[in-house]
Amino acid sequence: MDQSLLDLIATEVRMGAGFAPKRADTVFCRGEGMHLFDTAGNRYLDFTSAQGIALLGHAPPAVAQAIAEQASRLISLPSLLHSEIRARFLTRLDQVLPDHLPHAFLCNSGTETIEAALKLVRLTTGRQEIVATTKAFHGRTTGALALTWSPKTKKPFEPLLPQVSHMAYNDEAALEQAVTDRTAGLVLEVIQGEGGVNLGTRSFLRAAQERCRRTGTLLVIDEIQTGFGRTGSWFAFEHYGLEPDILCMAKGLGAGFPMGAVAFSEPVGEHIFMGVHGSTFGGNPLACAAGLAALNAYEEQNLIAQSAHVGAYLLSSLRERLQDVRQIRSIRGQGLMIGIELRTRAAPYMKALLEDHRILVLNAGPRVLRLLPPLIAQPSHADQVVDALQAVFANRTPAGR
Ligand code: PLP
Repeated sequence: MDQSLLDLIATEVRMGAGFAPKRADTVFCRGEGMHLFDTAGNRYLDFTSAQGIALLGHAPPAVAQAIAEQASRLISLPSLLHSEIRARFLTRLDQVLPDHLPHAFLCNSGTETIEAALKLVRLTTGRQEIVATTKAFHGRTTGALALTWSPKTKKPFEPLLPQVSHMAYNDEAALEQAVTDRTAGLVLEVIQGEGGVNLGTRSFLRAAQERCRRTGTLLVIDEIQTGFGRTGSWFAFEHYGLEPDILCMAKGLGAGFPMGAVAFSEPVGEHIFMGVHGSTFGGNPLACAAGLAALNAYEEQNLIAQSAHVGAYLLSSLRERLQDVRQIRSIRGQGLMIGIELRTRAAPYMKALLEDHRILVLNAGPRVLRLLPPLIAQPSHADQVVDALQAVFANRTPAGR
């Protein structure tokens, strides 16, 4: 790496003040499809979709072109003014959403959708209490952070939003006590992402919906990580026939372009008035152009079905070929969202995959390796990752790295 690049990275590290990792030996500068490239020209297979967002892979031509064309026409337009591209995007999003969610608020990230949902449940019900679940992750702004489970992430910032409680995930028996006629909203991930790739059980999810209906509680489903084909259907709630009152979406919505959307039902919509909530950048023309191109591409390239198909292949290959690996406790997932729970720390294996095989994967908590490849992944990419995993688990040394 030449000196001028090293100096630039040193500045990035200093200004990052610990928010960014201090490793500076690999610097990425380009992406194409399933791969990232570093400044030395090395190619890496990205099984993270850049933290679950690049569902069409890197620099997808359809989205890149749509952003470039929109940028040369109109970059900025506040939501108080009508926009052609926003209207086109919302019309497309409306086709993807279930009929009972006819409204959407546009913002710029996942955590902002949760903040909006918190306001909507209180506004609609006139109640204050919010229930989330153990191991949940809903974001890092202070409202969303109150719903997030990890005590370590929250501790320095307490007291957070009051009247928030956490019930045990997948514990049907706990619903009755946790969700009552004082609860404004129950916030759930259908599959918990950051919490360890934990799949909600059908009976828990259905019972949660039932309990919400019985108590007049709004059901908020966070599909920030699971939406747009990640689990092999447009939304994970479809696998269980759920009907959320509020649906939070981000990550794959813009296929890598920052945007978020909260869809909500007619009864919630009846409480909205001008100025009750807003966002300067929300629904900006560039984001809407990216979102429109992304939604079209998911459908035109048949990627929802491909995610289900390749995901099932990957899951069964992992289970078959890694069944005797003693470091593995369990392998679980749906579509292209897969967790490999280890008996030991995941970090050394992530490092080995990166350094020895040039494959990027994520963790989900300290002991779970998480695979979140773009929806364009092919069975050959799945094979490459399973081969590499076999090799790193066969090597007894990674734990000592
Ligand atoms: N909710 C879930 C389920 C997530 O996975 C994430 C991010 O990983 C968030 C909320 C927060 O989204 P963002 O980082 O865009 O604020």
